Amino acid sequence: MVLSPVIWRVTGRSNVDIMSMTGRCLCGAVTWELSGDIIATAVCHCEHCQRQSGGAFSVNLVAHESQLSVDGDLSVYGDPGNDPTGTVHVERRFCGTCGSPIVSALTGTEGVIAVKAGTLNDRSTVRPNVQAWCVDRQPWVELDGMDVSLDRE
Ligand SMILES: [Zn+2]
Ligand SMILES: [Zn+2]
Repeated sequence: MVLSPVIWRVTGRSNVDIMSMTGRCLCGAVTWELSGDIIATAVCHCEHCQRQSGGAFSVNLVAHESQLSVDGDLSVYGDPGNDPTGTVHVERRFCGTCGSPIVSALTGTEGVIAVKAGTLNDRSTVRPNVQAWCVDRQPWVELDGMDVSLDRE
């Protein structure tokens, strides 16, 4: 529902080269730091990201969980996506005080996470070049600069 391994296979390394990025939730109870090169910066148009963010899509810093350190307590929602068996595919971690989504972890991949770019302290270098779940894209949304557009994943 967020991003699958397909995305990091097709995109290779991100065009963003940042030594470390820091961010926080709206209330400041949760802070985070992401170290090293990230895998990709990807927009996800899926309905679940729309509902969780309250916006038209999510913007995700895709990385490995070993690159992320978090300070503060995160609440977790186990998101089954549209899987009728209820199997959790995405763990959505958020600040339990202010509700900001911080990071999603894909249960079926080996440590791939998606940190929510809207919680970055410095958003000036964010340049998404991948978009996923275009089947759920809101009709008014047209994004420039996409190297990869996926119907799903
Ligand atoms: Zn999504
Ligand atoms: Zn908070």
